[in-house]
Amino acid sequence: MNEEIGFDSFGLHPDVLDGLAAMGFRKPSPVQEQAIPLILDGRDLIACAQTGTGKTAAFVLPLIDHLIDLDDRHLSALILTPTRELALQIDQQIEGLSYYSPISSIPIYGGGDGALWDQQHKALRQGADLVVATPGRLWSFMATGNFQFNRLRYLILDEADRMLDMGFLEDIMRIVARLPKERQTLMFSATMPDRIRQLANSILKDPAQVSIAVSRPADKIEQMVFQVMDERKLEVLLALLEEFPFRSALIFCSSKDKVKQLHQTLRKSGVVNEAFHSDLEQQAREELMRGFKAGRLPVLVGTDVLSRGIDVDNIDLVINYDVPPDPEDYVHRIGRTGRAERNGRSITMVNPMDLRRWKRIEELVGRVLPWTERPLCGWSGPPLHRQGRGPGGGKGGKRPFYKKSSK
Ligand code: AMP
Repeated sequence: MNEEIGFDSFGLHPDVLDGLAAMGFRKPSPVQEQAIPLILDGRDLIACAQTGTGKTAAFVLPLIDHLIDLDDRHLSALILTPTRELALQIDQQIEGLSYYSPISSIPIYGGGDGALWDQQHKALRQGADLVVATPGRLWSFMATGNFQFNRLRYLILDEADRMLDMGFLEDIMRIVARLPKERQTLMFSATMPDRIRQLANSILKDPAQVSIAVSRPADKIEQMVFQVMDERKLEVLLALLEEFPFRSALIFCSSKDKVKQLHQTLRKSGVVNEAFHSDLEQQAREELMRGFKAGRLPVLVGTDVLSRGIDVDNIDLVINYDVPPDPEDYVHRIGRTGRAERNGRSITMVNPMDLRRWKRIEELVGRVLPWTERPLCGWSGPPLHRQGRGPGGGKGGKRPFYKKSSK
């Protein structure tokens, strides 16, 4: 096994480590593992990483570490990000991670009324260590007021591809032209098209590169997908549990209410199972996990709380009773099976409302998964084969919907 890298191996300030502990971050994510040492070393950086990889903390942690012991507090770092939501999220993460440090930050974003403008204007005048801003709004302030960015040492472009998609290139270039040339610049982007490389060439100096591959499920997992109406799902689930023998199975639902309900219904149908969700005390969760690991408890029904970080190697079946809203969660969920060189099977039930979500999952996993046919029960929605999908794709292909059970 690889020796595990912990946050303490980066030589971060003890107050930053305390902030991490308070946030519950125990282990660096891959982008953090790779980017933090380079940033602490003072390198410019171009990082290809998506939302959900922990990219925010990858730049926030070294920034806090750099700024923590400054005697003279002034505006030192500017983070440009495409949307108000991201600006607020980053600001919150700075607040959490710098809880034990004397670091301040202000979010600057567009929209709102005159009162918000005045409030942001005042905050900018008063100053902070870090400003997290959307480019358009920041440029409006810079163009009309006399804000001092002359002691700025760090510039971060977050979600650079999205900022360009939203038409912020001009604002970004105008802002950058007013910043000191001697600075450390970091750029994060989910994708690296040519125009992003060109932007990087024009504002970064000899950047180090980090690329976090999009997560894809292991090849050993047989991924099956069924189109099922919600009201048929239980019938289909019971049939599948009989059809595919398993030792340990996880069933994912979209909400804890659904988890609780399915747990009860399955129990009434004779399936030994327990519900796993965020309402449970830590002790109860650990107890369930022990039973599951030991094979005493064959089925756990849970929310995505279950999908991350459960360390059980012998799960042979993962069922998505609902399609996860975030495609990355699909990968996390089904990644619970097919571990430690074992084979695994995942089954996803897709209802007509979830087709769009399912398409995004297929885009993430990089292939179109054939629909599986079973003579059970179904829906009479628009035939998917007309959309060129599924095994019957093309002329006259049969929809793989579950058909009415003859039982
Ligand atoms: P991001 O990709 O920066 O949007 O982060 C995705 C989510 O992961 C956020 O909710 C962070 O709070 C969380 N996160 C980031 N780094 C870690 C870590 N090392 N351990 C646990 N959670 C993390």
